[in-house]
Amino acid sequence: MGTSSTNTRTDVLIIGAGSAGSVVANRLSADPSRSVTVLEAGTRVTDPEMRRPELWPFIHGRSYDWAYRTTPQPGLAGRSLDWARGRGPGGSSLVHAMAHMRGCRADFDRWVEATGDERWGWDALLPYFDRTESVLPVLRPGPELSSPLVQDYLAAWESLGVPSIPDHNHNGGEMLGATPNSVTIRDGERVTVSDVYLDPVLERPNLTLHTGVTVHRLLIDGGRVTGVTVTIDGRDGVLTADEVILCGGSIGDPLLLMRSGIGDPAVLEAAGVEVLLPSEQVGKNLHDHLLGAGNVYTSRRDVPPTRLQLSESMTYQSRLGLTETAGPIDLVVGCVVGPSASEALAAEAADAVPGHAYTLLFGVTNPTSRGSLRISGPDLDDEPVIDPNYLDTEHDRELFRLALERARLVGASAGLSAWRDREVLPGRSLAAGDDAAADAFIARAAITHHHPVGTLRMGDGDEAPVTPELRVRGLDNLFVVDAAVIPSITAGPVHASVLAIAEAFSARYTAL
Ligand SMILES: Cc1cc2nc3c(=O)[nH]c(=O)nc-3n(C[C@H](O)[C@H](O)[C@H](O)COP(=O)(O)OP(=O)(O)OC[C@H]3O[C@@H](n4cnc5c(N)ncnc54)[C@H](O)[C@@H]3O)c2cc1C
Repeated sequence: MGTSSTNTRTDVLIIGAGSAGSVVANRLSADPSRSVTVLEAGTRVTDPEMRRPELWPFIHGRSYDWAYRTTPQPGLAGRSLDWARGRGPGGSSLVHAMAHMRGCRADFDRWVEATGDERWGWDALLPYFDRTESVLPVLRPGPELSSPLVQDYLAAWESLGVPSIPDHNHNGGEMLGATPNSVTIRDGERVTVSDVYLDPVLERPNLTLHTGVTVHRLLIDGGRVTGVTVTIDGRDGVLTADEVILCGGSIGDPLLLMRSGIGDPAVLEAAGVEVLLPSEQVGKNLHDHLLGAGNVYTSRRDVPPTRLQLSESMTYQSRLGLTETAGPIDLVVGCVVGPSASEALAAEAADAVPGHAYTLLFGVTNPTSRGSLRISGPDLDDEPVIDPNYLDTEHDRELFRLALERARLVGASAGLSAWRDREVLPGRSLAAGDDAAADAFIARAAITHHHPVGTLRMGDGDEAPVTPELRVRGLDNLFVVDAAVIPSITAGPVHASVLAIAEAFSARYTAL
């Protein structure tokens, strides 16, 4: 794809052609009188393994992964976690696990509370979820595709009283219950958001995509952004625009704002960046889902390879009990068709090998721990400091222990007896009710579920960096439209809600 020349002008400049950026580019360029330019740091991904759903955990660290790493986490026994983020048209949908879950009504009640704006509620967002799913293929796997292990896992929950639900997305805004994951897979292959939203409209004369172009800084004049400086093959250039929309994701966006002089003055000054717009909360409110990896079993039967993406069913539950059918979700237990142990537990799980082992992952859906991220210097190659502050709150630790208990409950149940050989992790030495031992195990087992959000949260208070209209507070013509604006995480994976945000913003754009 071509690269930009200096002083190119456009009506709308979109930074990032990831999940949200692909949607916004499609919708805003549908008006032929509006010129839209998209800048994407990565280049087109041609790796055939990217397409294979079962390989998703194994393609990280390749050229199309930003490959971030967190600071050592006190809540995780001092471990640092690798954070994959996609780079190239499609963004993180190039590398994600393809589970498609809208979230539940209670998730969006919290968004309304944060913004004071009913348009971020479940009912108001429904048309945008529907619109997304009319473009992005969402597969609800039947028995011909689901692993026989996962089918028994779902039946095991039902025997324990957990309700069976048709799927995670069409149950009136409730997700409590057992069901296979819906996935964005078509004909056995990953479908990226770029495949269906961006690539089909690239022929539009008013839409230009530049790949391999990383935005260094926003140019700010008074209360407006006038353009951006970019780095192309190590050379600097400038693009000017009437309006700029950040779609660089929950890590890329706040870093770009900080490099541009927008952020917490203490952070900017420490990094050697002049403060142009003080906004203390930029980069704060960072939160993510963790999963315990895992409650691992060896199997007495061969475990056939997945025909989907390994992690085939997340079962959402209330702390109040197994039989709840509505209301807030607290916990999740998922079944992986193979061994899955954190790097810290790999040696202890050495007996659990593919084809002869399976894993129950467990986690907390609405963590209250909050961290932050910041720049360490003014340049693109200054490493960001990413501190999610995992498991900082007793709320999160207590619910994580309960999630582990629930995993072991179904793992030891009669419904899985045809599969269960031995519980490898945490194993017999962890007695039920020993909270300290459970905490120590969880701190070593937890891995990211890859859902960092919230670093430019939308809100109605002056301290929220982004308004409910998704405008950066203090700048008339700068918007943020992606996972960064999520004020509090949805119970399940966040991709569907990121796409709904992008559709909702695009529909309202001309009226803004
Ligand atoms: C490994 C993994 C597994 C996941 N699994 C799931 C799942 O199963 N289900 C689910 O719902 N969610 C999942 N997620 C989360 C989901 O994919 C992301 O939340 C979502 O894709 C984020 O979309 P976004 O538009 O905010 O950012 P992204 O899709 O990450 O897009 C940001 C884009 O901006 C570009 N960019 C950033 N900075 C700049 C810059 N300065 N200049 C130019 N371009 C820039 C990036 O290269 C990227 O293409 C997963 C994520 C990962 C990484």
